[in-house]
Amino acid sequence: MREFSELSVLRPQKINMVIRVVVIIAGIIFFKDLVSYYIFRRFYFIIFAADFFYIIGLVIYDYFQENIYIKKMTPWIIIVLVMCSHDIYFQIIGQYSPLGLQLNVYALIFFLGIIALDLAFEHINLYTKASRDGLTGLFTQSFFKNELIEIVKNKNKIKGSISLIMLDIDHFKKFNDIYGHLMGDKVLEAVSKILTENSPRDALVTRYGGEEFAILLKNYDKKSALEIAERLRVDIEDYRNKENNSIRITISLGITTWHASKEIDHSETLIQEADEALYYSKHHGRNKVTHFEETK
Ligand code: GH3
Ligand code: MG
Ligand code: MG
Repeated sequence: MREFSELSVLRPQKINMVIRVVVIIAGIIFFKDLVSYYIFRRFYFIIFAADFFYIIGLVIYDYFQENIYIKKMTPWIIIVLVMCSHDIYFQIIGQYSPLGLQLNVYALIFFLGIIALDLAFEHINLYTKASRDGLTGLFTQSFFKNELIEIVKNKNKIKGSISLIMLDIDHFKKFNDIYGHLMGDKVLEAVSKILTENSPRDALVTRYGGEEFAILLKNYDKKSALEIAERLRVDIEDYRNKENNSIRITISLGITTWHASKEIDHSETLIQEADEALYYSKHHGRNKVTHFEETK
């Protein structure tokens, strides 16, 4: 199971830069061989050199355009792969110079490397985009639910407890009415930041709905989940807006804890229980933390 915090550390831009550095280094090695190969086969030099400059051009173009160049490179990749396999075949049957094989192996590794890195990058990029909420940058409800389904499916692998915190901003409708939706959005961003910064690094912090959030804590028992929730409640209560110092917000929280030894029928059960605890907090004064076990 991947760590959620790792996901947020893997910034697409960083990977983009790594790919480029690899491409340029591989290109230099490739070029060194091209020069020696030129002495032997003029025709291949022209094709490989054109290819080389084409790739470098794309890398530069891509660097400014933020486009993924894999698609544009596809015809060249196919040509080079066909050429490589053709040349390697002739080398194996003994009708080719030793340098030819070396060159083609470099070319093959070079292009396969680019394809692999590019696919990995594209995957991470799309995955990160699809799993993040536009306004707050938190994980989306669908991503969160998928993770929860995975956890329930692989529950045999879990040794400790799983806790789920659901929380909701108090009287947010009124807040919007008083301060406006724009300020409401700013507060949602601020709340998201506080939740992320003050939750454990391995917590999955999700924007569950409009002004409702879910925090999934793997390997956190009831006691530690209660401590985390209470700390978050105080952190939000202490939040002061720079533009308008009179702004005060509070949140209500509900928690449920699931022990790995306990049978669970459906991942939705956890959400229902945490939600029930949250509504208990709402109906008992708000700005409050309740554990599901205390609602019965
Ligand atoms: P309660 O304490 O019972 O939770 O009351 P509430 O007013 O917070 O709850 P209710 O569900 O009645 O209203 C939620 C409000 O949250 C309504 C909606 O305008 C606001 N809201 C939801 N999403 C956004 C958003 O993205 N931006 C802004 N500014 N407001 C939002
Ligand atoms: Mg609310
Ligand atoms: Mg709500």
